[in-house]
Amino acid sequence: MARPTMHVEASRSWWNGTSTTLCGLTITKVTASGYWWTGTSVTCPTCKAIEKGGR
Ligand SMILES: [Zn+2]
Repeated sequence: MARPTMHVEASRSWWNGTSTTLCGLTITKVTASGYWWTGTSVTCPTCKAIEKGGR
């Protein structure tokens, strides 16, 4: 089973559906791409490191 990568969301533009993650990814059409993030079960190592580092 494929597990979607969980990123930490840095910002989201609801008006155009574009999200930016802490690791610098810009994801459009979040649900269609299979990406999701909650901040509690992050699997992206880069996002984790940045979050732990307290930016
Ligand atoms: Zn990430």
